[in-house]
Amino acid sequence: MFDTILIANRGEIACRVIKTAQSMGLRCVAVYSDADAKAAHVAMADRAVHLGGARPADSYLRGDAIIEAALATGAQAIHPGYGFLSENPDFVDAVEAAGLVFIGPSAKAIRAMGLKDAAKALMEKAGVPIVPGYMGDNQDPAHLQAQADAIGYPVLIKAVAGGGGKGMRLVEHARDFADALASAQGEASTAFGNSAVLIEKYIEQPRHIEVQVFGDGTKAVHLFERDCSLQRRHQKVIEEAPAPGMTDEMRAAMGQAAVRAAEAIGYKGAGTVEFIVDGSQGLRPDGFWFMEMNTRLQVEHPVTEAITGVDLVEWQLRVAAGESLPCAQEDLTISGHAFEARLYAEDVPAGFLPATGTLSRLAFPEGARIDSGVREGDTISPWYDPMIAKVITHGPTRAVALARLGAALAGTQVAGSVTNLEFLGALTRHTGFRAGEVDTGLIARDIDALTATEPVTSLQVASAAMAAFDPGDEALAGFTLWAPLTQALEVVQGDDRYAVRISRAGAGWQVALGDETLQAERRAGAWWINGARAPEAVRTGRDSVSVFGARTLHFTIPDPLSVAEVAGAGAGVVLAPMPGLVKAVFVSAGDMVEKGARLAILEAMKMEHTLSAGRDGTVAEILAQAGDQVEAGAALIALEDE
Ligand code: ADP
Ligand code: ADP
Ligand code: MG
Repeated sequence: MFDTILIANRGEIACRVIKTAQSMGLRCVAVYSDADAKAAHVAMADRAVHLGGARPADSYLRGDAIIEAALATGAQAIHPGYGFLSENPDFVDAVEAAGLVFIGPSAKAIRAMGLKDAAKALMEKAGVPIVPGYMGDNQDPAHLQAQADAIGYPVLIKAVAGGGGKGMRLVEHARDFADALASAQGEASTAFGNSAVLIEKYIEQPRHIEVQVFGDGTKAVHLFERDCSLQRRHQKVIEEAPAPGMTDEMRAAMGQAAVRAAEAIGYKGAGTVEFIVDGSQGLRPDGFWFMEMNTRLQVEHPVTEAITGVDLVEWQLRVAAGESLPCAQEDLTISGHAFEARLYAEDVPAGFLPATGTLSRLAFPEGARIDSGVREGDTISPWYDPMIAKVITHGPTRAVALARLGAALAGTQVAGSVTNLEFLGALTRHTGFRAGEVDTGLIARDIDALTATEPVTSLQVASAAMAAFDPGDEALAGFTLWAPLTQALEVVQGDDRYAVRISRAGAGWQVALGDETLQAERRAGAWWINGARAPEAVRTGRDSVSVFGARTLHFTIPDPLSVAEVAGAGAGVVLAPMPGLVKAVFVSAGDMVEKGARLAILEAMKMEHTLSAGRDGTVAEILAQAGDQVEAGAALIALEDE
């Protein structure tokens, strides 16, 4: 076994790998960018080496600097985590050329699976069922259109080098093909430097079921399946294992196909074979097709660990150190059911817009496995994936594991950024999901119900007001000197402003809200309102308060002295909705635009966002150029006054 390894990654996966490696007695070397000098993975590691600037290209993607760091710190092996260099065969070659071990598959295996078209061709040869489609070299748009017509709509255009849902377009009608092709190719060439695409039959009511495999370079086993059908924009939201409704017969067929795939390329280490499954007629052994293989540890690997009791990182380290497969297929069994929810800093109602912020509050309840790379006080920066944590629960049955997930989410407290916490909670209560009826369209279909919000209650407003007012425990005595004293304040939640008047009432306080009056008192460090324990409210900034519970509410407390927002700025100025990179500006000063016209593209955290005109008008001024890195709220384009 190695005595020192370097983890060429950041965030939760770096922490996850370090945890197991340290428990096995290994020393861990972290690497970090300027943005991550104080990050959790650096704090956990035994040593840390600075790589460079915040941009991945200046740090986590610098294979040469990473290898140098490994050599300088005496590490014998490099664990790549996921993302970044994990599926880069040139990096594997360089690691091995430096005399180090890459904890993962061979460069050859990664190359074989790196491009979706070549991988599909290889799998077809190995007898693994593949999605019907076109995966040829001819990339002429007319030829591709003819192929799509022949396959029959709907079809899916995919970047052959794609990942993370990028470069993918669903085309429902022949007339939309040319536009979709152009945009998929554009996204693919910026994201992957390769504009080639393939075309697949779009499976209706699809389920995403993947099989965890593990190889030692010769033989492979599978660790059963995960269902990742709960997706938004082709990205996973909640994963589970095993798949609901799975039969022994289909599990055996999928497991064998996945093992065939792994053995066909002499796979070493942890990998995932992703299948698309036709869910329209129940699960059938002839109703699954190979989509792609991810030649790395997957984000959702903890659900497999929960049901099998295997520590996949331990297996990775042992096999990389030269051991053969830690156990045989017959030794692997499924115990119970597990879920993982991905908690992200993102604005769900705004279309899952990635968000940033400093986590003024981050707390998790007991009873769940939490894999996270951030702590309270840390910042979700615009540079990397905005995942805050993975919340993982296990139980003897699916219903119990799901109930535990719901409870774990309800007990999770995050402030300092908008998150998808409430949305995840709503998903755990979704009737179809609870019944195990999942498909990749579920979220999009029911998005309105999943994001519907209950009205804010006076209890929540009063809790926010008391936290904002915050007389503290000791201040009480002093306060009575000026009694009766009434403090008026305003708390704002979304578009709603609440005027609150707080005054002394005996040992407690009276909170007047519209024509309602509530009684608040402090008991053992907590607020009780009208005799019941109030939802926990925490002051999370100079002018902000968060109220937690099944629903988290963030209130702002406007400073009555500061002047309100610039009047009328609204639709006349296009602002950056989040920090990001301006990819393109489509208009110039003097252009007439119509409401909804596409003005610019902002790229932030894996996604491109189109910014459009809020009203008809004439462009007055362009305030940002393509290539500019901008802050949230930066003015990008101004329209002339109406
Ligand atoms: P999973 O199937 O495990 O969810 P994803 O494809 O969503 O995998 O990606 C896992 C991680 O790897 C994400 O954090 C994502 O940011 C990163 N990632 C995946 N593909 C790419 C890519 N092509 N370029 C950069 N990062 C990627
Ligand atoms: P990526 O490399 O971006 O992860 P995948 O090929 O794994 O791309 O596909 C991502 C998701 O897109 C799948 O999980 C599934 O939801 C959907 N998808 C992919 N192929 C098809 C298909 N042929 N029909 C329907 N949905 C598909
Ligand atoms: Mg995939």
